[in-house]
Amino acid sequence: MTAKTLRISARVFLHFGKRNANRVVHYGRPALERNPPVRHYYETAKPAQDSSVSVRTVDLRSDTVTKPGTAMRQAMAIAEVGDDVFGEDPTVNELQRRAADIFGMEAALFVPSGTMSNLIAVMVHCRERGDEIIVGDLSHLHMYEQGGSAQLAGVHSTMVTNLPDGTFDLGQLEAKIRHGYPDAHFPRSRLVCVENTHNIQGGRVLPLSFLQELRSVAERYNLAVHMDGARVMNAAVALGVSPSVILRHCDTVSVCLSKGLGAPVGTMLGGPQDFIQRALRARKALGGGLRQSGILAAAGLVALTGMVDRLEEDHRHAKIFAQALLDCDPPLYHVDMASVETNIVRFYLRDPLLTPGEFCERLATVAEGEARALGRGTRVLMFPHVGGSVRAVWHLGVTEEDTQSAILKLRFVAQQRAKERHAAAEA
Ligand SMILES: *Cc1c(COP(=O)(O)O)cnc(C)c1O
Repeated sequence: MTAKTLRISARVFLHFGKRNANRVVHYGRPALERNPPVRHYYETAKPAQDSSVSVRTVDLRSDTVTKPGTAMRQAMAIAEVGDDVFGEDPTVNELQRRAADIFGMEAALFVPSGTMSNLIAVMVHCRERGDEIIVGDLSHLHMYEQGGSAQLAGVHSTMVTNLPDGTFDLGQLEAKIRHGYPDAHFPRSRLVCVENTHNIQGGRVLPLSFLQELRSVAERYNLAVHMDGARVMNAAVALGVSPSVILRHCDTVSVCLSKGLGAPVGTMLGGPQDFIQRALRARKALGGGLRQSGILAAAGLVALTGMVDRLEEDHRHAKIFAQALLDCDPPLYHVDMASVETNIVRFYLRDPLLTPGEFCERLATVAEGEARALGRGTRVLMFPHVGGSVRAVWHLGVTEEDTQSAILKLRFVAQQRAKERHAAAEA
């Protein structure tokens, strides 16, 4: 990337961050009409190439940026395949069996994305016109899936308030259930959705006791429970239990292979046999029936069977980083250590004049004098996040060394900021 394009994308980022400082921001993508979002997305990820100093890029924007390694590519290259719409792809079939096994569920289905998987779950659980789902107000399903439940499934939703730990109040849930049904005024509450770990709330792990109590409320009112478990493997590792211990409290689950588990594509939707049979039909209607998808499923098998244990490493790095932010001198960062349970760190800037967007732009830019001070230039990529926070996410592409480089860079930015404040006070 040339210095010029770096400056341009940095300016775009700054502009975006400022404008949205107090809004919910995701993925840092600027408005469609002005900036081609796809190009922007890749531009911010590219390491500087024409720099005279050595520059390291630490990409903490999301655990979706992982790339398949050698073993995964090898497995993809030699995968046995067939037409999966005919049910004839042996690798897909194997992945589906393994996933069902790991989830402790009857069956599982390979789906192109987490968004499609959640949508299919809503479609299959809510089959009658006038059915309704109950979702957390800060859930991915509600915030970041374009309202697909309404737009594509024709299903109404009502919200419960997500608490900082990703749960919600079960009393509020009970109050939101449409007790008036079948009176003709009311939709029928059919499904309640939970998210584990909770993305917006910073990778929080839902307590097993919460899931158990939720289950008993759901049973009392004949509601199904769907877990958006995009990162449920992170939850399992954090709790030190097998995923099936978490999932026994849910009817269905959606688990991303393409986040921290490192597969390039894919999500597993798990549930009872009859649910998965209907899900197969819905997937085809949505255009998600793939043919020789064993090539992708082979990567999924490596992800599901070989990549779970290493998530612990991401959690450890996230904690080291969060603690370093707390200990940073001069102080610039606020982070609640208790909230750092998995691979996501949400933190706040204690300088009200430094917006999260501006801060992220500084992290992504090698400053003058930085290489001299730190021995090399470091670009750290993060996104401004909900409520004026900044979010950093660990994944298999970030080593301990990268984490230490990122810490040095954040310290450097804090020092620069202190100098600027000092200079401003003198003037
Ligand atoms: C990423 C994510 C999804 C959607 O997955 P895609 O594969 O990007 O569509 C759903 N829920 C949560 C919590 C996620 O983090």
